[in-house]
Amino acid sequence: MKRLVKVLGVFAATLFILLITGAGSAISDKLLFYVRVAKLYSQTPESRIAMPLADVSKKQIADTWQAPRGVGRRHEGQDIFAPRGTPVLSATNGYVLRVGVNSLGGQTVSVVGSGGRVYYYAHLDAYAPGLEVGDWVSTRTVLGYVGTTGNAQGTPPHLHFGVYTLNGAINPLPLLTDRTAPAMTRNKPRETRTRSRLINRRA
Ligand SMILES: [Zn+2]
Repeated sequence: MKRLVKVLGVFAATLFILLITGAGSAISDKLLFYVRVAKLYSQTPESRIAMPLADVSKKQIADTWQAPRGVGRRHEGQDIFAPRGTPVLSATNGYVLRVGVNSLGGQTVSVVGSGGRVYYYAHLDAYAPGLEVGDWVSTRTVLGYVGTTGNAQGTPPHLHFGVYTLNGAINPLPLLTDRTAPAMTRNKPRETRTRSRLINRRA
């Protein structure tokens, strides 16, 4: 018992020194991050999430969930087409889990939200400046910009959007809800809106 008290005392003193010297701020931030992520995991996942591209409506998305993609691979998400450089907004609140490159996705951002669900944004032309792992994001946060990185090279620019539960990928389409269009967009002539409807089944 005495020994345990001593160990705890040393631990508390070390933590105190780390905190007052500032060396611990990184450690305490990290601890706080894990506590917050753990809290997110315990919450019920959203049944409705926001469209990552503000001016795209749900009915413009051609459902390609589970569409064959070469030998032995199926499409684990939805492709949302928009001009290169269109801001990609977070579909949910959550924490940035990963910012990085992989061969299929190119430049990607992953956000962990309620229920430990991971929202995956791929083929980004660029990341939002200053975006870092551990950042808290809301549905108003720009994560990056639409592009053609990864295996989307040579295809029309689009966002590949994936949703991963602890049991694997699920179709994002039923979850997506349109963002309220700003008055200017709503009043655009019909032709303009129809022209921006880009559907491509390749990528
Ligand atoms: Zn895709």
